Parts: sequence; structure tokens; C-alpha cells
Amino acid sequence: MNDWAFEPQPAPFLAIAGSKDRFPVRRIYCVGQNYAEHVREMGGSGREAPVFFDKPADAVSLTPEVAYPSATRNLHHEIELVVALKSGGRSLTPEQAAGCIFGYAVGVDLTRRDLQVAAKEKGAPWTTAKGFDASAPLSPVRPAADCGDVSSAEIQLSVNGELRQRSSTSEMIWSVPEIIAELSRLFELKAGDLVFTGTPEGVGPLQRGDRVECAVAGVGELAFRIV
Ligand code: MN
Repeated sequence: MNDWAFEPQPAPFLAIAGSKDRFPVRRIYCVGQNYAEHVREMGGSGREAPVFFDKPADAVSLTPEVAYPSATRNLHHEIELVVALKSGGRSLTPEQAAGCIFGYAVGVDLTRRDLQVAAKEKGAPWTTAKGFDASAPLSPVRPAADCGDVSSAEIQLSVNGELRQRSSTSEMIWSVPEIIAELSRLFELKAGDLVFTGTPEGVGPLQRGDRVECAVAGVGELAFRIV
């Protein structure tokens, strides 16, 4: 007997709304600072270029309960429209990027805000602030053809029934095709990649016991409890 055990780890899979098929997650890219009002609430001018960061694929959380993470005293919610890719490539035009979209999901970019603030002050990476275990609760993926108009969809999040974030995806600084095109200049995108497209204003703290409910109109809903 060895005292170690390597087990093959399958990709996290997201359910696909209306299908028995499942969506295998390859990578999780995220864009920050993509809604002007959120940029301003974080202390920016509202005109900064979006920034990219990532989360590990196995940060996906599909369970009704999410454990309050270690090493933070300021866990924040960020409701986001998430894009799921069926194909990819390099240096895509926005038009080509639009053709890579399989569908959309509702996601929350859970953030250790205290660690992110400290990282920003030091110019340090955001890995511990953004890429921790279960930091990416996600709904099922809805195929694009079954979604409403995601370029102008209401996006909202409530905590214990109290509305905290509400906006429209039409408030995005960079559109979904523009985000994917820009990402493809930096990384070769592939089927299975997810892209969190940024959060609107109203981010705030979560406590143990809080029930988080969120929705993007025409895409889906997501609910979980912090424990
Ligand atoms: Mn975010």
C-alpha cells in the first residue's frame, strides 16, 4: 500500500438546461471592471480597461451549500453572466467570437475582498482572493438559442430576500463578443472554457447562514447558502 492516492479527476461538468448532455468545464476566465458603476464603487473612474484573471476549473461549486472560506473576514458576492464556449481559437474577431458561444449560465464570483484589497495595494496576484475552493457557484448552462437577449438582460442578486445587486447586461463596458475576442489575443480559447463577464454595482459581504439567490433574465437562476 502506498500512502498516496492519485485518482483521475474528471472535468467539472455543468448540467445543460433542457438536455441530458453535460458541459465539461475546461478553464474559467473572468473579467473585472466591466460595469462602470461597479468600477466606481471600487474606487476607479469608470473608464479603466477590463482586467482578466482566472479561477481553477475545480473551483466550480454546484451544491446548495457553500462553505465560508478560510483566511477571510470579508467574503463578497459578485453576480455575473457566464459565457460557455463550444469552440475557440486565437485572435478572434468579435464576429468570430460570437460564433464560439455554446450558451450562458448564472455565476457568482465569490471574492475574499480583504485579500483582494491587500493584493491591489501590493501589486500582488489575485489568486488567493479569487481562485479559492468553491469560489465559482454556477447554474446549469442554457444553450444560446434558448436564451433571451443576453445583451440586454436584467441581472440581480439578493441575500436573505433583500435585493443587493440589480442591473442590466446592457451596462457592460465591453460586450460579450468583445471580451471573448480580447481574451483570444492572450490565450488560445477552446471548447469548455467559461468566461465570467463582470459584476454590476452592489457587491457586498456574506455571512454564514446567508441565502444567496440570483438570476439573469432569460438565462437562469442560482441559489445557495453560505455555511
Ligand atoms: Mn467578478
